[in-house]
Amino acid sequence: MARLNRREFVLTGTAAGLAAAAPTTVFGQAPAVTTRSSTKPVVVSSANGHQYKNGGPVTAVEKAFSTMVRGGDVLDALIAGVNIVELDPEDTSVGYGGLPNADGVVQLDASCMHGPRKRAGAVAALEGVRTPSLVAQKVMDYTDHHLIVGADAQRFARNMGFTIESDLNTERSRKAWLEWKRRTDSLHYLDPDKREAAMRQVDREMMAEGYIDPNHYYGTINCNGVNAKGEICGVTTTSGLAWKIPGRVGDSPILGAGLYVDGAVGAAGSTGRGEANLYGLCSFLIVEGMRRGLHPKDAGLEALKRIQANTTEKRLLTPKGTPNFNVNFYILNAKGDYAGVAIYSADRKQQFAVCDEKGPRLELSEPLLEGSTD
Ligand code: ASP
Repeated sequence: MARLNRREFVLTGTAAGLAAAAPTTVFGQAPAVTTRSSTKPVVVSSANGHQYKNGGPVTAVEKAFSTMVRGGDVLDALIAGVNIVELDPEDTSVGYGGLPNADGVVQLDASCMHGPRKRAGAVAALEGVRTPSLVAQKVMDYTDHHLIVGADAQRFARNMGFTIESDLNTERSRKAWLEWKRRTDSLHYLDPDKREAAMRQVDREMMAEGYIDPNHYYGTINCNGVNAKGEICGVTTTSGLAWKIPGRVGDSPILGAGLYVDGAVGAAGSTGRGEANLYGLCSFLIVEGMRRGLHPKDAGLEALKRIQANTTEKRLLTPKGTPNFNVNFYILNAKGDYAGVAIYSADRKQQFAVCDEKGPRLELSEPLLEGSTD
């Protein structure tokens, strides 16, 4: 599965965090990474972390892992990785070209956490900056705050030197929005039950007709990493839910929901229906589960059970009474054990991306339930 790029993946033993005499090597040739500690360096992310390259040679997890094992700061490495997806117009769920809100405006959310430094930063409903993860990092590095939103987040970004663009739509995202507007405008503020059903119907039609990529209707990239010294960081960045009411903020920029890192325990982050995750602050729940000794997979499944238990409204249930949406978590602990979990996996073969000494690849997420969101 791993496609190796020799230039990008030659790991040098000079990197901090690798044993001084670690051999120069490539993925797949043991011993790939020699460490002083018992931590296996690893990066995990949502599947788009190993699907998009923005015209370059590598995907997000490849970039993050190779930067990290060369001694780069773990968070800098992860953000360099997700920048590839933010900037790639082909991913319609993150950054530039993300599907816009109900008014046709791309509004972005992002958060980041630095385990060793115990610092965090986030932005929400940010317009005009292609890489909100970098703005979240500036909130972390240059302020005493954790979250800056809306027009003020944009002003903050301008003051930090970011280029502000008037529109982050691509031709593709703009066309998809126009079509959605045409089909749903009169329905926009229907009562929640009718609106839910009408929107599901329209979205299905638009997927079938090719306006929306079914695999990236729900999107976002969450990317977490741990280096050989056991330093853990994470980042989540998204254009949020397609067609959201302007100003809606999802789980991605909320610490404990779309991302949580405890430098001594592990990291977790999410994609999928943000409202369901926000209700239980599940990334925090997962990290707390790992603190109690649970494996990342078991901690993740426990959080998904909580989401299922909290999903009682009929509009959110399948005819079988299970959630009619998906939520995914990407999890690692301080030893480098990792997991991807999802409410459902069978229907679309829900995958997540991993990069470790064996190279970058997609793996199947562990599902909580059989069946699908239908
Ligand atoms: N979790 C994101 C949100 O609710 C969206 C997604 O991952 O699709 O904003």
